[in-house]
Amino acid sequence: MNRYWSPVVRTLTPYVPGEQPKIDHLIKLNTNENPYPPSPAAIEAMRRELGDGLRLYPDPQSTRLRRAIAQANGVAPECVFVGNGSDEVLAHAFLGLMKHEAALRFPDVTYSFYPVYCGLYGIDYRTVSLREDFSLAVDDFAGPCGGIVIANPNAPTGRALARAEVERLVAAHPECVVLVDEAYVDFGGESSVPLVERYPNLLVSQTLSKSRSLAGLRVGLAIGQPGLIEALERVKDSFNSYPLDRLAIAGAVAAYEDVEHFERTRAAVIASRERLAGELAGLGFSVLPSAAKIMFARHRSRDAARLQAALRERRVLVRHFPKPRIDQYLRITVGTDAECTALVDALREILATAAS
Ligand code: PMP
Repeated sequence: MNRYWSPVVRTLTPYVPGEQPKIDHLIKLNTNENPYPPSPAAIEAMRRELGDGLRLYPDPQSTRLRRAIAQANGVAPECVFVGNGSDEVLAHAFLGLMKHEAALRFPDVTYSFYPVYCGLYGIDYRTVSLREDFSLAVDDFAGPCGGIVIANPNAPTGRALARAEVERLVAAHPECVVLVDEAYVDFGGESSVPLVERYPNLLVSQTLSKSRSLAGLRVGLAIGQPGLIEALERVKDSFNSYPLDRLAIAGAVAAYEDVEHFERTRAAVIASRERLAGELAGLGFSVLPSAAKIMFARHRSRDAARLQAALRERRVLVRHFPKPRIDQYLRITVGTDAECTALVDALREILATAAS
């Protein structure tokens, strides 16, 4: 606490990202990054962008990128908003579309940044309990809402909601915006983007951090009808006119164009996920069905926090959340097959020792 802080800063409980330690030879399965490199075409496009052009500000509208995203999703460029990672896009959506008299609703177990934005922007929220198996019951959102946010597939569980169920939610709540955070959709979820043209209250966010291996570039997006996009633009232009730099725009456009790389790397992650799920089950874990690049798993007899610590001693990082309902689960990012094997070997060794 410092005497110069604004009142709001005194009340904040900031989001804590997974650690990025500077230790060699780590098996890093804690922050949901993609284990494969970005498209070589994206790297090349960024190299070409390095030069005298950096003297100049980038295009404040990121027009080339919005066009590329629009084309890939079969929507008009006016339906696309881009920002510095989907975290920034989500933040703008919370401020621009979710702050109303009625409370915002989101699941009790979901991306832990949502309550942080509510704290930052003074948004009243209520959580909706997921079922025992962490699936989402659309009818539990009944009643007027100031907004609804779901991650689909959900984080940290990996569970997906069918598009028809998302549609039921969106159709049942014309009074508010339903924001569907699709950070992990490319690993097996059903995108809600095709619903956008029929529902003026649906906003879908996505990111290049996961399925396009560009977490370090910070590019995220939202797709919705122009009325919603305009709200995001109004917030952006009251905050930072140039959230995407020249390198990010060039790299992201090339990443969207390299469909072959995208398809190949996401298929590899999906295959590793299925293999890892089977191996974890064989070690005595129950694993939630995942449509993301996340395994959410609990062991039948071992404490999750202790397992995480023992893995860390063996240089394998996974994430553990000491929170109600999920404190006996490990969230494991799906890595390459070699990384998954290293994790399974480490777990086998830990489980062979007596529980401490
Ligand atoms: N949504 C969810 C559900 C996430 O897990 C993440 C990654 N932490 C994000 C959004 C934000 O991703 P980024 O800002 O890298 O686009």
